[in-house]
Amino acid sequence: MQIKLYDTYTRQLREFRSNVPGKVGLYACGPTVYDYAHIGNLRTYLFEDLLRRTLEAGGYEVNHVVNITDVGHLTSDADTGEDKMEKGAARTGRTAWEIAELYTLAFKDDLEKLNIQTPTLWCRATDHIEEQIADIRKIEQEGFTYITSDGVYFDTSKLDQYGYLARLDVEGLEGGSRVELGEKRNATDFALWKFSPENESRQMEWPSPWGKGFPGWHIECSAMSAKYLGPQFDIHCGGKDHIPVHHSNEIAQSNVCYGTNLANYWMHGYFLETDKEKMSKSSGEFLRLQTLIDKGYDPLEYRYLCLTANYRSDLKFTWESLDSAATALGRLRKATHQWGQPDSVNEPLLAQFHNEIANDLNTPKALALVWGMVKSSLADGDKKATILQMDQVLGLDLANWAPKETEISADVEALLSARNLARAEKNWAEADRLRDEILACGFEIKDGPDGAVLQSVN
Ligand code: AMP
Ligand code: ZN
Repeated sequence: MQIKLYDTYTRQLREFRSNVPGKVGLYACGPTVYDYAHIGNLRTYLFEDLLRRTLEAGGYEVNHVVNITDVGHLTSDADTGEDKMEKGAARTGRTAWEIAELYTLAFKDDLEKLNIQTPTLWCRATDHIEEQIADIRKIEQEGFTYITSDGVYFDTSKLDQYGYLARLDVEGLEGGSRVELGEKRNATDFALWKFSPENESRQMEWPSPWGKGFPGWHIECSAMSAKYLGPQFDIHCGGKDHIPVHHSNEIAQSNVCYGTNLANYWMHGYFLETDKEKMSKSSGEFLRLQTLIDKGYDPLEYRYLCLTANYRSDLKFTWESLDSAATALGRLRKATHQWGQPDSVNEPLLAQFHNEIANDLNTPKALALVWGMVKSSLADGDKKATILQMDQVLGLDLANWAPKETEISADVEALLSARNLARAEKNWAEADRLRDEILACGFEIKDGPDGAVLQSVN
């Protein structure tokens, strides 16, 4: 299985080759834990899980590192505004440390419900202040920083290739933004270290060679990914909004600190969009996974919905599309359950499926193949064995689904006895009438070797 992935850095679909044969270092930018994750954020983690499962299906052992941003992410990408963590703490009346813990746990719970595999390693920004300070010192020693009244900044004009990932028109940006620069020298310069405001005590602050304060948001990811995966690892991912600022800045820091581009492949998940404005946690109004659960949806129905679109297309969220996903997943679950015991995997079909998924994670085509198999004349046991292998990548947990045990009321039991009697008396018309009556109560009759049993149709 030759995997091809779209690399944002080169804007090309590239054959995937890992640094070390059989092993992949994968870093995914994690959540800022000042609030719950919204279902848009979760689409990005679903994409990363699909990538990991695809690499695993391709025989790689994946070292999957995800960070937790628990400090220093300001409400604006331009290094102004409040610290999101301190703001979240003020909103909820808890400490910044408490909300970090609370929302980290809530996030992990969401991932589990979506059947997203646990990363090999979680790393918290606040546990890696020393590493971040060491990298900022290196950048300073190389002559790429300057100090303003509120922090230590990276001077992007000193780096020729700055912004290449986003193909940023740096000069155009400079021309248009002179007024708002403040003490920054260039529009694209960004904070490496922010000073705690004088006479104001922050909940999260640390001593540093430049004074008390906290790290900028971008330095945590380059410092922690390089620490755990090496300064030039395989794949770095995140949502597409990270291309122009966060990932451009991670690359700039790594260019100076380690002389590398940090990762060999840069991959980005496109957005989930709602009818309203772009889904945004900082706007306060957003859909959580729990919102879907409260409305009676199963989290894996949302996972299925995300699989229906390619990760490199934005996906418009509507309740109707979630309903369709729920229906489709329901059918797939029932079919898989009814196929009984797995027999032999159909290798050509599985290979076709892997080919689709290896082609830059083409889930719509892979799902079409699954449905083709469902409707095919392949033996049930072979369908079952094959779909369970495919589901290693899709992650719909089909192996563990079973119809819910529904209470069968005494009335329905009585109807079934009457139907059994009618059949014994060869009164087929009455037996059929009773079958329809039972169906109207929500149960199908399955006639098997041990007699008739009832199965819920819901
Ligand atoms: P945050 O917690 O804001 O740092 O975001 C966590 C992840 O979600 C990042 O990889 C973002 O790029 C991604 N993200 C943010 N909004 C959306 C969205 N509407 N759809 C998909 N991914 C998103
Ligand atoms: Zn990051």
